[in-house]
Amino acid sequence: MRRFALTGVLVDYESVTRGAVVVEGNEILAIVPEEEVGEWGVEEVYGGKDYIVIPGLINAHTHVAMTKFRGLGEDLPTEVWLERIIWPMELKWTRREIRRWAELGIREALMNGSTTINDHYFFADEIAKVAERLGIRAFVGQTVMDKIDFPLASPEEGFRFFKRWRNRSELVTPTLAPHATNTVSLELMTEIAELSEETGARVHIHLAQSEAEVSEVKRHYGLSPVGLLKRAGFLNERLIGVHGVYLDDSDFERLAKAGSSIVHCPTSNVKLEARTVGLRKLLDFGLNVALGNDSPNPTGILDPFLEMRTAGIVANLTAGRAHAVPPRELFGMATLFGARALGVKAGLLKPGYLADLVLIKADKPWFKPLENLYSLLVYSARGSDVEMTVVNGRILHRKFTWGPSSQSI
Ligand SMILES: [Zn+2]
Repeated sequence: MRRFALTGVLVDYESVTRGAVVVEGNEILAIVPEEEVGEWGVEEVYGGKDYIVIPGLINAHTHVAMTKFRGLGEDLPTEVWLERIIWPMELKWTRREIRRWAELGIREALMNGSTTINDHYFFADEIAKVAERLGIRAFVGQTVMDKIDFPLASPEEGFRFFKRWRNRSELVTPTLAPHATNTVSLELMTEIAELSEETGARVHIHLAQSEAEVSEVKRHYGLSPVGLLKRAGFLNERLIGVHGVYLDDSDFERLAKAGSSIVHCPTSNVKLEARTVGLRKLLDFGLNVALGNDSPNPTGILDPFLEMRTAGIVANLTAGRAHAVPPRELFGMATLFGARALGVKAGLLKPGYLADLVLIKADKPWFKPLENLYSLLVYSARGSDVEMTVVNGRILHRKFTWGPSSQSI
């Protein structure tokens, strides 16, 4: 089996050290000192002195095909933006167009260092096919709703998609993707929860994203969105709740106790809702928190580095104090905690972990001094510093062609 290595400063949530990551097949075979890499029979060595190697970043909530809507309606209130711009355009999607824009979004994610996406959208079948063809690790869910009549989101198609893709692909894993707590009935949620129980599939749902969602659920059921999820049978380690802008302490406690994950999307929240959830609080309650870019409209770009940075800055505002969340935790959210949310053996540079890796060229002024690595990765790096993205042991994005391997070491 082909072996290659990435060398530089190796940074994961657990440690920072110089060395080489030896890849064989789709896994990390070994972590070795740089000077010993030649003894491992590798065909190529990428990286060297001014490079950083990290586990691939995980975009735990996104809608890649919505790249098509980038920049549209930025001057409108959220409700009007949805009603006048987004929904009418969504009703006009063709399969061909979905494929085209999903491809663009996935390429953008790979270029910026995401090795895994967790997508939630219509025409999931097309998105799954594009993801598989491009080679990214993808969790894909067909958005379903039954309380709103939206032809693209029929529950039947959701179940059909899930069954079609179950155990079919090494890279694409189908999820169950009810849209939100106010757009899906309790009956449908219960049916989805049963299927998740039976199959072990992740449930990916927008949770307490807007004030309207919370008040509608309260009016209908006399419950908070988390109370409703509990009644439906969703409160377990397979639940991936996105946003959580309007959750309270009792919700945090229940979610943490259940082992559920929250995906924090601060850029999207602040742009659409002028508010976000307190990240410090989520972490203090012991919740597993991952990071998501959400849709390129409103967030502008699928760049996980920008999301880490925004999460860190906004956490100070919600906590009311400086340095509320250390860079290492923010980096953990984009790597290891994201992997935990999705149940994949990734997010660390360790033998036996999936070879989902990113090589960063750190010879630029904003990486000097090359110390305080977590801080550099969160506050100084950006997607355009990514030199190479490896998924499942395959190099999918690469900025330059290297010469002989010894040259840069
Ligand atoms: Zn979303």
